[in-house]
Amino acid sequence: MKAVARTPRRPAPKKPSHPSLKDPVGVYCRVRPLSGPDQEGCIEVINETTVQIHPPDRYRIFRNGEYRETQYSFKEVFGTLVAQKELFDVVAKPLVEDLIHGKNGLLFTYGVTGSGKTHTMTGSPGDGGLLPRCLDMIFNSIGPFQAKRFVFKLDDKNGVDVQCEVDALLERQKRDAMPVPKIPSGKRQIDPEFADMINVQDHCKVEEVDEDNVYSVFVSYIEIYNNYIYDLLEEAPFEPIKPKWNNCNTPVRNGDFIPPQSKMLREDQNHNMYVTGCTEVEVKSTEEAFEVFWRGQKKRRIAHTQLNRESSRSHGVFIIKLAQAPLDADGDNVLQEKEQITLSQLSLVDLAGSERTNRTKAEGNRLREAGNINQSLMTLRTCIEVLRENQMYGTNKMVPYRDSKLTHLFKNYFDGEGKVRMIVCVNPKAEDYEESLQVMRFAEMTQEVEVARPVDRPLCGLTPGRRFRNQAFREELSQKLELRGGPKNGETEEQSVTEMFLQNFPPLPSCELLDVNDDQTLPRLIEVLEKRHKMRQMLLKEFGKNVLAFKTALQEFDSSVVSKEHYIQGKLSEKEKTIAGQKMELERLEKKIKTLEYKIEILEKTTTIYEDDKRNLQQELESKSQKLQRQASDKRRLEARLQGVVAETAMKWEKECERRVAAKQLEMQNKLWVKDEKLKQLKAIVTEPKNEKPERPSRERDREKPVQRSVSPSPVPSAPPVRPRHRRSRSAGERWVDHKPPSNLPTETVMQPHVPHAITVAAASEKALAKCDKYMLTHQELASDGEIETKLIKGDVFKTRGGGQAVQFTEIETLKQESPTGRKRRSSPNPEPPEDAADSECTDVETRCSVALEMRAGSALGPGYQHHAQPKRRKP
Ligand code: ADP
Ligand code: MG
Repeated sequence: MKAVARTPRRPAPKKPSHPSLKDPVGVYCRVRPLSGPDQEGCIEVINETTVQIHPPDRYRIFRNGEYRETQYSFKEVFGTLVAQKELFDVVAKPLVEDLIHGKNGLLFTYGVTGSGKTHTMTGSPGDGGLLPRCLDMIFNSIGPFQAKRFVFKLDDKNGVDVQCEVDALLERQKRDAMPVPKIPSGKRQIDPEFADMINVQDHCKVEEVDEDNVYSVFVSYIEIYNNYIYDLLEEAPFEPIKPKWNNCNTPVRNGDFIPPQSKMLREDQNHNMYVTGCTEVEVKSTEEAFEVFWRGQKKRRIAHTQLNRESSRSHGVFIIKLAQAPLDADGDNVLQEKEQITLSQLSLVDLAGSERTNRTKAEGNRLREAGNINQSLMTLRTCIEVLRENQMYGTNKMVPYRDSKLTHLFKNYFDGEGKVRMIVCVNPKAEDYEESLQVMRFAEMTQEVEVARPVDRPLCGLTPGRRFRNQAFREELSQKLELRGGPKNGETEEQSVTEMFLQNFPPLPSCELLDVNDDQTLPRLIEVLEKRHKMRQMLLKEFGKNVLAFKTALQEFDSSVVSKEHYIQGKLSEKEKTIAGQKMELERLEKKIKTLEYKIEILEKTTTIYEDDKRNLQQELESKSQKLQRQASDKRRLEARLQGVVAETAMKWEKECERRVAAKQLEMQNKLWVKDEKLKQLKAIVTEPKNEKPERPSRERDREKPVQRSVSPSPVPSAPPVRPRHRRSRSAGERWVDHKPPSNLPTETVMQPHVPHAITVAAASEKALAKCDKYMLTHQELASDGEIETKLIKGDVFKTRGGGQAVQFTEIETLKQESPTGRKRRSSPNPEPPEDAADSECTDVETRCSVALEMRAGSALGPGYQHHAQPKRRKP
C-alpha cells in the first residue's frame, strides 16, 4: 500500500496568493573576532542592529585623508563575543519550528573567505554551529514520534511514499541482506572529529509538536561548484577507470579519483526544484544525521584536493527533509493517505566566498572555475536586485534564476512561501575593507526583498490525542496479559518475537538462471522456499495463538468494562441522588435568600424614610435657630437705638426744663421788679406832698404820672406801669422806631399804619432806640382761616440802669383782612388784585393795655415765623 505526497505546492511566481502576508528576508550580521590583538580593524558593532565600517589608514592616504564612515543596519547584529547558541536561538530556531510545523525554510551564510561562514554553519569541535544544533532540536522534538525506518520513502521525483509497517519491515530486511555498505544503525563508532560538534546538549525542542503524527527525517548534502551540482552522499567506489572526460572537461587519467557525476535540476509537478537522483538518507538521530553530513564533508575535501579545486569557491547545501503523516483513527498506524503527508524542508547553505576572483590568485582552469562560481553569486545578487525592484516598483521583470544552479535551486523560496534568512559574516580586518563594503551593500539590499509567509497546513480531521489513548490502551492490555501469564511486555514483546522470526528467515539465493544446465539454483531456491513456508506455518500458528489470547483478553476487557460501567452507573445514580438533594437544599436556601433580601429591602426603605425625616428636621432646626439668632441681633440693635433715643430725649427734656426754669426765673424777677417799682411809687405817693419838686426829670415823671393816675385797683395786678391811653394826639411829639422786618409782605390794604417822625429799621437797632421813646414792630402771621394777620406791637423805650435801652410793650394792634363772601384768600405772595378789596377791607384795632412783656425769641410769635426784632433786654 503506497501513497505519494510532494512538498507543499507553492504558488506561481507572479501571482502570490497572500500579497499582504509577506515577510522581508531576515538578514543578520555576525562579526568574527580579529586574528590578533594588533591587527587593524575597520568594523565596529554600534548597537544590536547596527555596524559601522570605516576605511583603514591606507585608504585615508589614498583619499587625501578623507574619512567616511558608513553604518549598516540589520535585523540583528552579533558581535565577536556572541556564542553559537545565542545565534542559533535567534536565527535558526524559528526555522526548525517551521520545519516541524510543515513549512519550508532556507538559511544561508554569506561573506568573504575567512569571515566565519563555515564556523557559523558547521562550527568547530566543542562549539557546534547551526547545522548540528538544528539537527539536535529536530530530533529532540520528534524523538518519541518517529516513524519506523522505511515507513516513509522518498521517491526520485521529489515526492514521498508511505507504506505500512510490515512492508517497511520487509524492506529493512531486504536492505540488511544486501552486500552493499550497511545503512548506519544507532550503535556505531562515532568519528571523534565531529563527536564534539554534535555534543550541543541544549535539549532545545519545539513546544508544539503534533503528537498524533509520525515523523521521518531525510538528509541530503550537495555541493555546487563551477555551476555543477554534485551529490556528496553518493556512494562511488574508488576504482581505476578508462580515460574519460570529467565535468571540468579535463581528461581523467588512469588511477585518478573518479569525480562524482554532476546532477541535474528538475522541477516537480508542484513547481519545486529538486536535484535528480540525489541521495537522501533517512536518519533517526542527531548523531546519525551528522555522521552523514560529515561523510559528505570528507568527500568534499578529498574532491577539492584530488581535483585541485578552489575550496572556498564551492557552495555547500545541506538539505533536511521532514516527512510527517497522521496516525489513523486508532492511533496505531500511519494513515495511508497521500493527501495527509506533509514534506517540509530546511536548506542550510554555506555559500562560497563572495570576494572577487583576483583576490584568490587563481590561474587557468581554476580561474575559469572560480569565475563561474563567482558567476553564481553574481546571479544571486542580480536575482535579489530584480526581485527587490519588482516588489518596490511593481514592475514585472523576469528574475534570472535559471542563470545559475544555485539560484535555480532556491527560486521557490524567493518566489513562493517559506522563511529565508541570511547571516552575513564579516571579518573586521582592514584588508577585507572593500570586500566587506560589497557584502554589506548586498546584505542591506537583500533585506528589502519580501517573501510570502508560509501558510499553516490543514488539520487532518481526526480526533487529537489518538496516540496517547492507544498507548494507554496497550498498557492496560499488557497488564491484563501479564496477569494471565502472557508475554511480559505485551505487544512490544510480540513484535520483537515476530521481528526475530523475520530476521531468521533464510535469505533468498540468487534465482538468476544463466545456464540451461544449472541444476543447483532451483533446488536451492526450493529448499529455501520450503524452509520459509515452514516458518510461515509456525508464524501462523503463533499468530493464531496470539489472536486467541488477544480475543480472550479482549473479552475479559469487555466484561471488566461492563462491570466497570455498572459500577460507574451505580455511582452515578448515587451521585445524582445527592445532587438532587443538594439541588433541593439549594432551592430552599435560595428562597430564604429571597425572603431575607425582601426584608432587607424593606428595612432599607424604612431607613431611607427615617433618614429623610431626620434630614428635614435638622434643616428645620437649623433655620429656626438662624431665625432666633437674627431676632436676638435685631433686638440688640433696637435696644442700642432706643437707648440712644432715650438719652437724646432725656437731654432734650433736660434742656427744656432748664429753659423753662430760666424763663420762670426771669418772670419771677420781672414780677419782683414790678412789685419793687410799685412799692417805690407807693413810697413816693406817700412821701410826695411834703417834698414835691418840679425839677424831677421829665421822662421819669412822665412815666410815673399815669401810674399815679391809675392807682385805682387794677384788674391785672402783675401788669407793668400803665400810662393813660393816649392816641395820636399824644404821640404827635414823640419819636418812633418803626421796625419792619424785610420778610413782611405788602398787604395792599387801604388802611396802612402810618407813623410820623419815625426811624424805620429792618432790624432792631439800639442806636435807633436811643434816639426814640416809642417802638413799633410790624409783625405778620398766618391766621387760622388762612388770611394774613398783621400785628403792630407797640412799646415804650426807656433807659435801663446799666445804660442800655429796654422796650416795655404796651399794646398790640391786629390788622386782619377778611373776604365778605367767605372765600379763602390765597396765601400766595402775589395775590390777585381784588376788585372788591376796598369793600372787604376792615380794620379791627384791638388795644391791649397794661401788658408789659419782655420779648423773647420766638415766645410771642407763632411757630414758623421768624422773630425779626429782638430788642436788647437789659436787666432792670
Ligand atoms: P569561511 O568559511 O567564511 O571561509 P571560516 O568559518 O572557515 O571562514 O573561518 C575562518 C577561521 O576563522 C576559522 O579558523 C574559524 O575558526 C575562525 N572563526 C570564524 N568565525 C569565528 C568566530 N565567530 N569566533 C571565533 N573564531 C572564528
Ligand atoms: Mg568556509
